[in-house]
Amino acid sequence: MKCPKCPGSMQTETYGRKIALHRCDQCGGLFCKPDVLLEMKREWMSEIVLDSGNKKLGQKHDALGDINCPECGIRMDQTFDQAQKHIWFETCAQCEGMYFDAGEFSDLKYETLMDRLRDIVKGARPQL
Ligand SMILES: [Zn+2]
Ligand SMILES: [Zn+2]
Repeated sequence: MKCPKCPGSMQTETYGRKIALHRCDQCGGLFCKPDVLLEMKREWMSEIVLDSGNKKLGQKHDALGDINCPECGIRMDQTFDQAQKHIWFETCAQCEGMYFDAGEFSDLKYETLMDRLRDIVKGARPQL
């Protein structure tokens, strides 16, 4: 599976018994399904193991929203987390896959005071 944001390829990564997702071997972007995301939020340390990509690169890639789903090849929808609006990610209407840039999952898992500030500074993603 090819990474939608860089020339890297998405490799299968697992954590525990319930978590399997794809991570780009170059930029560290993560592609997963909603049920896996729920498990990742529950599993202790999952973000350390799975979201190991370069956060600086992830931040750069955050602006790239015009991508195709690595699984179905159709254009992904640009959205953001309702609780932490500065976390922008892409979803696929067909397979429900979600693409997170490196560092975004760790950010999503824990809401800190810094995150509240980021919500104010960066804010919600402009809707097309
Ligand atoms: Zn990549
Ligand atoms: Zn898809």
